[in-house]
Amino acid sequence: SHFGTQVEVEGTQPPFVGVSTRCNLRANLGQLVTGDKVIWRPKQQAGGVVVATTDRQTSLSRPDMHGRLKPVAANIDHIVIVIAAEPVAHANLIDRYLVAAETVGIPPVILLNKCDLINDSNREQLNALLETYEQLDYRIIRTSTKDQAGMESLFQFLGDKTSVFVGQSGVGKSSLIGTLLPGIEISVGELSQKRKKGTHTTTTARLFHMPKGGDLIDSPGIREFGLWHISEDELLNGFIEFRPHIGYCRFRDCAHEKEPGCAILEALEKGEISEHRFQSYLRIKQSIRENQAF
Ligand code: GDP
Ligand code: ZN
Repeated sequence: SHFGTQVEVEGTQPPFVGVSTRCNLRANLGQLVTGDKVIWRPKQQAGGVVVATTDRQTSLSRPDMHGRLKPVAANIDHIVIVIAAEPVAHANLIDRYLVAAETVGIPPVILLNKCDLINDSNREQLNALLETYEQLDYRIIRTSTKDQAGMESLFQFLGDKTSVFVGQSGVGKSSLIGTLLPGIEISVGELSQKRKKGTHTTTTARLFHMPKGGDLIDSPGIREFGLWHISEDELLNGFIEFRPHIGYCRFRDCAHEKEPGCAILEALEKGEISEHRFQSYLRIKQSIRENQAF
């Protein structure tokens, strides 16, 4: 984590395992973010020096106050897209998170929380919604923080990996993180701070160790992870089932909307692409054109 030109590092070798040390950065190492892995050396008295950085396997960025994309976290293994069983999540919103995750190349998983609220009035709608994603081989984890259902399989899925939780406000992210990180108050505090400041969002992320292994990287800025600065090409590729058809349209500049010989539309007609995913694609493309982040 960051303290101006200093960073907090945690050692992996004795006697520094699990110990946080404040380090100076050797010049020209560039900006470090939460989750970066570095090579550092303890100083004789106290503190240390970061002497080298390692390549990031993945990174998450978000726009700064000038609209420029800035990395905020590195080396994330999973993006956990949290949705709620009630009110039933909108497919379009799930698709936006999936596209954003696919675009940054971090495997997403869909976490259906509030499963205690599933009943005869929403069950069919939920099943129909989730079936699309199951068919695309997206993993779905079902939980309830109310009765702790599914928490074991969530623990197992997270394993020893580094994960982030994203999703709309109110779906239960804080409650889930609170269960995974017992005794840590951070999420609640940061959220209330954000409310006070209105639209301004803290982007500094923190990495937490879960008691059973694995790490969570969290900050309000990451929870709001979205489709910033995504191009129309990236959007197309973000729908994983579109990929095999990309490049096979009759026209090179095909907009995949109503063009003759469009490979995407043909796949839609054959049922290889679902109507709801295609509608999501059109809607997200429209919002990119109107330059709306979400
Ligand atoms: P966040 O905005 O995504 O961080 O959501 P919160 O964790 O703050 O939860 C929003 C509301 O949903 C709170 O009132 C929680 O008590 C409630 N909630 C969270 N998880 C569950 C759940 O599994 N079942 C039910 N019924 N309510 C939940
Ligand atoms: Zn096309």
